[in-house]
Amino acid sequence: MRIAVLPGDGIGPEVTREAVLVLEALGLPGLTLFDGDVGGIAYKRHGHPLPEETLTIAKACDAVLFGAVGDPDCDKLDRHLRPEQAVLGLRKELGLFANLRPAKVFAGLEHLSPLKPEIARDLDLLIVRELTGDVYFGKKGIRQNESDEREGWDMMSYSESEVRRIARVAFRSARLGDCRVCSADKANVLETSQVWRDTVIDAASAHPDIDLTHMYVDNAAMQIITNPAQFGVILTGNLFGDILSDLASAAVGSIGLLPSASVGDRKTEHGLFGLYEPIHGSAPDIAGQGKANPMATILSVAMMLRNSFGKEAEAARIEHAVETALADGIRGGDLGGTHGCEAIGAAVRERL
Ligand code: ATP
Ligand code: MG
Repeated sequence: MRIAVLPGDGIGPEVTREAVLVLEALGLPGLTLFDGDVGGIAYKRHGHPLPEETLTIAKACDAVLFGAVGDPDCDKLDRHLRPEQAVLGLRKELGLFANLRPAKVFAGLEHLSPLKPEIARDLDLLIVRELTGDVYFGKKGIRQNESDEREGWDMMSYSESEVRRIARVAFRSARLGDCRVCSADKANVLETSQVWRDTVIDAASAHPDIDLTHMYVDNAAMQIITNPAQFGVILTGNLFGDILSDLASAAVGSIGLLPSASVGDRKTEHGLFGLYEPIHGSAPDIAGQGKANPMATILSVAMMLRNSFGKEAEAARIEHAVETALADGIRGGDLGGTHGCEAIGAAVRERL
């Protein structure tokens, strides 16, 4: 098990350290960690937010554990040298076309959700978002139209092969749960969504165990808020996924608890290659103060073990330890508590 550890900037190193200690505490045979610089720290040390050396390490590993990037010192740099570019570069270089974002309200933390507690309790879904296509990457421009005013345009498109490969990721993810997949599109008005829906239906025909439904994305947004229990996996494109995943995270209401994964179709000897990271950023406002909640990064390790190494039992052990710690009142500042980063990490390890 070769894992690249890229802590990055701000609270990245603090939360990653605790997550690595949790991983090491499992005592998995053959675990080897490789450290790399990424983000603002990499710019300062090597002149680039994603140095060649880091990329080589990541490519030679079975999975990447990523902290966070973002450094106020780098705000004035050229766009391609900004820390945030490292994430885009890694996705591109590693062929990571799918983003997996679980949104789950933990028992006892319903009050952090803006939803009613009885609705929040049932929020436990996974958004599978396509990352490399859609309107963000289509032809675009600004033109002077017939009325002689500026008109911006961006082309939305998805090919069948692009849809098929993200659908397969959603089906694989659904199988780790209860096999429900809801595809969110706008097939009533968009040609892109017509191809999307037809292709998802066709791809599902080879997977009879998958319980596939379809929903217009505007309705899906409403249903995440009003009746989240109906969702297992939500499969969607880049634009809709961008919006739905932030919506779902906000519905959970605790930024320091949510992990994420980016995967492609590259297989390793252990399973599927993936990059795992908390959804929060580098949080420069609390960096270096020992206040960050490492649970999102610790849960990213659980996601890694399940998705890239097929280690369901170990993943469940970590998740259970986090849930037990929360149930025992271990809370970071983001959850209205007073426990620091190291104390939370230790509390989770004790409960492994
Ligand atoms: P980015 O642009 O990198 O997404 P951001 O400015 O959106 O950064 P985050 O870094 O995600 O912000 O943080 C948003 C707020 O949440 C900040 O006030 C930060 O201190 C807090 N926060 C984020 N992550 C954590 C964490 N793990 N533990 C505690 N507080 C956190
Ligand atoms: Mg942000």
